[in-house]
Amino acid sequence: SITMATDGSDPIPPHKTFDTILVLDFGSQYSHLITRRLRELNIYSEMLPCTQKLADLDWTPKGIILSGGPYSVYWDDAPHVDQAVFEIGVPILGICYGLQEIAWNFGKNVLAGEKREYGHAALKIERHGDGETGGHVDKLFAEIEDDTEVWMSHGDKLSHLPEDFITIATTKNAPFAGMAHKSKKYYGIQFHPEVTHTPKGKIVLKNFAVDICQARTDWTMGKFVDQEIERIRKLVGDKGQVIGAVSGGVDSTVAAKLMKEAIGDRFHAVLVDNGVLRQDEAKQVKETLTAGLGINLTVIDASKRFLDGLKGVTEPEKKRKFIGNTFIEVFQETAKQIAAEAHGSSAAGEIEWLLQGTLYPDVIESISFKGPSATIKTHHNVGGLPKDMNLKLIEPLRELFKDEVRELGKNLGIPEDLVWRHPFPGPGIAIRILGEVTPEQVRIAREADVIFIEEIKAAGLYRQISQAFAALLPVKAVGVMGDKRVHEQMIALRAVETTDFMTADWFPFDGAFLKKVSRRIVNEVDGVCRVVYDITSKPPGTIEME
Ligand code: GLN
Repeated sequence: SITMATDGSDPIPPHKTFDTILVLDFGSQYSHLITRRLRELNIYSEMLPCTQKLADLDWTPKGIILSGGPYSVYWDDAPHVDQAVFEIGVPILGICYGLQEIAWNFGKNVLAGEKREYGHAALKIERHGDGETGGHVDKLFAEIEDDTEVWMSHGDKLSHLPEDFITIATTKNAPFAGMAHKSKKYYGIQFHPEVTHTPKGKIVLKNFAVDICQARTDWTMGKFVDQEIERIRKLVGDKGQVIGAVSGGVDSTVAAKLMKEAIGDRFHAVLVDNGVLRQDEAKQVKETLTAGLGINLTVIDASKRFLDGLKGVTEPEKKRKFIGNTFIEVFQETAKQIAAEAHGSSAAGEIEWLLQGTLYPDVIESISFKGPSATIKTHHNVGGLPKDMNLKLIEPLRELFKDEVRELGKNLGIPEDLVWRHPFPGPGIAIRILGEVTPEQVRIAREADVIFIEEIKAAGLYRQISQAFAALLPVKAVGVMGDKRVHEQMIALRAVETTDFMTADWFPFDGAFLKKVSRRIVNEVDGVCRVVYDITSKPPGTIEME
């Protein structure tokens, strides 16, 4: 069975130690950005679905932000927040739908506008001074100048202000672009402060969280790390043991290092060499994790098992499935073996826990509000969990965004090049070798990849590029090498820039760079006589080739 440590048994979740701004999500595609922006301001923030009952939380937020959403508050089945939100006495900021939700709550005064407003607008701020309202209404736009650029995306509007509210900002099309309650700390804004199209949006969020909610700005990885180690120790106990797969990627390495710091060798890391890792990767990961980071690591060389099974397989889905399933088999066998050994030693207890490198975006994805009728998706896949071992999940990174994981990694002394490593897919270069994967094809793809990445690093472009690799195309072209006609395969280079991996664009290398890489690959890699550059964006392409 799988149990999550979110049932109150979790000893010290961040929302109990750090001042927390709660974002209630009405399903806007930007909701998670509100949380991210606050974290960038060193303010801890968590997002929960808009239907969250506050009584079910065993903690109290410092403030609540109601997000945007695709619904109209006047629809019969529109989502609404728990009334307790307005009763617990903490400041509230409504953004777009959130503003309309506050207005609806206080006066049912929202209707469809004559036209949608989408894009930039200039904000005019109305300041009220200390007189009638005591000054709190001006705090939201402190340090924001008139005519500041804001980004709008709405079709509904307020017909009039709810009772006891006053206007704090307008735009040409929105007479109620900002409103505030005259005595309570309730604010609403029609624009989106969380998107980069609102350049001063972060100041608005800071004004709300720091000045209005009085949240401490102490959310740093330096502070998180000590607490997280404490939390793992409490959760696992004095004897408990944990097992987890590592890949050499940043998430699994950071998670593994945290475990090592918390419980030492009672954490067992497993690296499965599937035969389709990059050149010398298993060796390098082993060195970094053991000699470098002191992690108790078992490397299983299963490359023959994988490569034998890949014989004759050309279909991308079949490759992925075979590699995924075989990985689970190998990991389970290893886990059982390690568990049996652990059982034999009296110093420690049984292996009870499985480490997962789950990040906050996965958590958000599984809880984000998808509408009144949509069923909430179950938690992400738990790969490699031996069912008969009865393991509980431990997810030390489940509150963190990727940039926070990198920060944490640096804090834990993980080498810089590992912290910034490009993502690498589970099926490895098997999905970068189009068609059948044979040891010879693996050799060619690996050698070409080494050259490409080496040159990218030498040119100082590695960090600017989000993901880059060399793929092997199993088609033959004619060439002349050393006065001899050859008939060899092609390498396709792929390099993309992206912020979220949902959309991506190919990287605009200059000609001289491509010329150099191409020359080196053709000269140095046996079996290749052409190099091409993939200029397909995502969509319609994917980042990987299969
Ligand atoms: N559906 C609402 C409107 O169109 C809210 C939109 C939003 O939150 N982005 O006004």
